[in-house]
Amino acid sequence: MQQCCISLAPCSPSLGSMIRILKCAAIVGMWMACGAKAHEAHVHGMAKLEVVQEDSVLTMHLESPLANFFGFERAPRTSKERDAVQRGMERLRDGDAIFVTSPAAGCRLKSVAFDFGALTPAFTAAAGQHSSLASTAPPGNEHANLDAEYTFNCKAPEALHQMDVKLFEVFPGLGRINVQLVTPKSQAGRNLTRGSSRLSW
Ligand SMILES: [Zn+2]
Repeated sequence: MQQCCISLAPCSPSLGSMIRILKCAAIVGMWMACGAKAHEAHVHGMAKLEVVQEDSVLTMHLESPLANFFGFERAPRTSKERDAVQRGMERLRDGDAIFVTSPAAGCRLKSVAFDFGALTPAFTAAAGQHSSLASTAPPGNEHANLDAEYTFNCKAPEALHQMDVKLFEVFPGLGRINVQLVTPKSQAGRNLTRGSSRLSW
């Protein structure tokens, strides 16, 4: 499934704060040619991460080919594949471990939500080890993405100025993350790799 997973929510006219306007402008600037780039958006080994800090709330939207995390992009078929999904989901759910922010800021994961597109029932079932549900999922011969939304609350947001992204250590299939960063101190695009996985602002 080739997707152009651009959330239009930040561009809603009802959302008037400056940070959202900046985020919207950044996204529109980056992805204006979305239709033309749809086939470029899904590249194995690469992922996209939007990082937005607004007051004490830190929100991250991760979009990645499923292959980067699980090695396949269809419903898991074997117990080994279901185990891979369960292990991978456990790591992905642990936002405090994979996004390590400035300790003094006291940021803690508040919520996380995953969307596997058409594979959501199969992956949710596999993560819960309900194999009967997984086996009834459509085979899905095309590519598929994971969209994950992480929300953190920070006790001292003024102390938040860096984040180590630990995804590379957990998932060897991931080689590069294109980051769009919007904080009160910075608005920038960055590339993270295994050897350079710290965001600073
Ligand atoms: Zn793919």
